[in-house]
Amino acid sequence: MTETGDYMLRGKRVPFLSDQDIYMVAQGVAKFFGCKAKTLQAMGFFIEDIQHKMPIVIDVRNDNDPIFLVARALCDPREAKITLPETLYLRITDGDTEAAFVLCHELGHFFLGHDPVLHMEPDVPPCKNENSEYQADLFAEWMMQRIAGKDWRKAAVQLNLF
Ligand SMILES: [Zn+2]
Repeated sequence: MTETGDYMLRGKRVPFLSDQDIYMVAQGVAKFFGCKAKTLQAMGFFIEDIQHKMPIVIDVRNDNDPIFLVARALCDPREAKITLPETLYLRITDGDTEAAFVLCHELGHFFLGHDPVLHMEPDVPPCKNENSEYQADLFAEWMMQRIAGKDWRKAAVQLNLF
């Protein structure tokens, strides 16, 4: 897990969700899609299922698309669209845990409703539970436990994620 300070730099301020709130959403999403520890080995099917059961579009683009100059993957909750570079998409469907974590992180932005919001209390600094990146990473952590098993990190490569 990245330190709180990093989240402050890269995240947007969003409404407070406790770790338990985020856990409940991740569990609900995992249950809805019937995730189990072998889901990681069938991610192509999982991605089809997401688009079949929800109004989400997984938009796969050429790696050199300029949209990826700002982020390795993007989620637009308002458009219900997750945009992934082709190489990342192929790594996800190959069952690569780091790539799957990125997808789960983007799904976190969608299911946690991360439209940026304006807060009117400038004297109160945001806490980590008001940070979109912290929330999405925590969501992804729990989703990964559901789609790849509780010990998924042991098999994963060093994470350095958006
Ligand atoms: Zn993010």
